[in-house]
Amino acid sequence: MLHVPSTIRAFASVFSREGYELYIVGGAVRDALLGKAVDDYDFATSATPEEVQGLFRRVIPTGVQHGTVTVLFQDHSFEVTTYRIDGLYTDHRRPDTIAYTRSLEEDLRRRDLTINAIALNPETGEVVDPLGGRADLKERVIRTVGSGDDRFQEDALRMVRAVRFAATLDFALLPDVAEAIRRHAPLLGQVSQERIAQELEKLMRARHPSSGWRLFRDTGLLEQFLPELEEDRETPSPVFEHLLGSCDCAPLDPPHLRWAALFHDIGKPRCCAEDEKGRHFHGHDQVSASMAEEVLGRLRFSKERIRSVAHLVRHHMFGYTSEWSDAAVRRFISRVGEEEVFLLTALRRADICSKLGRPPVLPDLDELEGRIRCMLEEGHPLTRKDLAVNGRDLMSQAGIPSGPALGIVLEELLETILDDPSMNRPETLLEIARAIYQARFHPS
Ligand code: ATP
Ligand code: MG
Repeated sequence: MLHVPSTIRAFASVFSREGYELYIVGGAVRDALLGKAVDDYDFATSATPEEVQGLFRRVIPTGVQHGTVTVLFQDHSFEVTTYRIDGLYTDHRRPDTIAYTRSLEEDLRRRDLTINAIALNPETGEVVDPLGGRADLKERVIRTVGSGDDRFQEDALRMVRAVRFAATLDFALLPDVAEAIRRHAPLLGQVSQERIAQELEKLMRARHPSSGWRLFRDTGLLEQFLPELEEDRETPSPVFEHLLGSCDCAPLDPPHLRWAALFHDIGKPRCCAEDEKGRHFHGHDQVSASMAEEVLGRLRFSKERIRSVAHLVRHHMFGYTSEWSDAAVRRFISRVGEEEVFLLTALRRADICSKLGRPPVLPDLDELEGRIRCMLEEGHPLTRKDLAVNGRDLMSQAGIPSGPALGIVLEELLETILDDPSMNRPETLLEIARAIYQARFHPS
């Protein structure tokens, strides 16, 4: 019998005492049957939202129009949705109307995939599986509940979900399902970009997101929401495959790293030819970074996410050699930022891993990381904040007025200490500041 935490059994008993049914449904049952850890439970009940409100003191009507309320029970908050039958879908995303039902089986039939349409009674351990979800879990296949054509016509987001589950669970999309997606892919235009993006975020946590991206391409979905990824229409498409490989090779966290891997060369087909030695002309890093900004913006990712992805893409072309002076390494850290610099080396490893087809051995990169680590431990000054003087000091003690001159002098002082950290002393910097200001703004 599947393990159910005691809090959830206690929660279910409140319903059964009053003659209502409560089942765990969806992802929690699917994942438990796959032997995975479960931390997020969705519930379905025969009780209407009003009836649920009568059972508990603290009930928040989070989505009453869909029959969903959130119950605060002990220290937990549980989402409970009344068994329902969906009416017509005219917008290809949400039902126009819903109707409550007292039949669990009817509720399971409105769900997207058979593996998501299994219910578990928390008190008795009984599993309700009228659509053969368990058999599909065993076979490791993605099958729609009923006809794929109907399901995708109703709600086009289900196509993205089918691919996302295929990739995250490492299941096969049944050929019928893939065919139905191909037929209905253009309906994806009706789905909000935010909802697509939420599914993409989950896809990116798969062991191999590439399998999902390849399915997106092969079923025609990619063309609908991210056509920029397959702009090199050669077959096989080298940039597309390289980006997918890099994404698979990159660590899962922080999440923006895999996105940067997916986009790092996306601009190549637009901007860069190769010279006779197979080297790419410079410039694709900037083009790729702007394309990442545009695509992620369109998908309504947060400003912070867009900024951090574009930042890594923009800086990914650094060409480290052992010849780099300490000042060059400090400039590199200063430009990229202490927090991001190791993500940039991780991105480089993913890039080369994708080209070699295995994790690379890169003594140069190891050396660079070692040097960076040492400098950070030794506390080398790297940013304006680390300067031994600040703007106020320059105004009061070097006679520099506030305004653009102040910024320029501070920038030059930063250059000075990146070159030679031993200069980072107040008297020395004030003296240099006076000299810079005289020379640049009051040349005699
Ligand atoms: P996970 O939370 O791991 O991403 P999940 O299956 O729990 O997976 P949710 O989005 O939390 O996914 O949805 C919970 C359940 O609601 C699903 O398992 C499925 O039964 C149903 N469901 C979700 N979205 C849809 C949809 N677009 N169409 C039909 N049923 C859906
Ligand atoms: Mg869930």
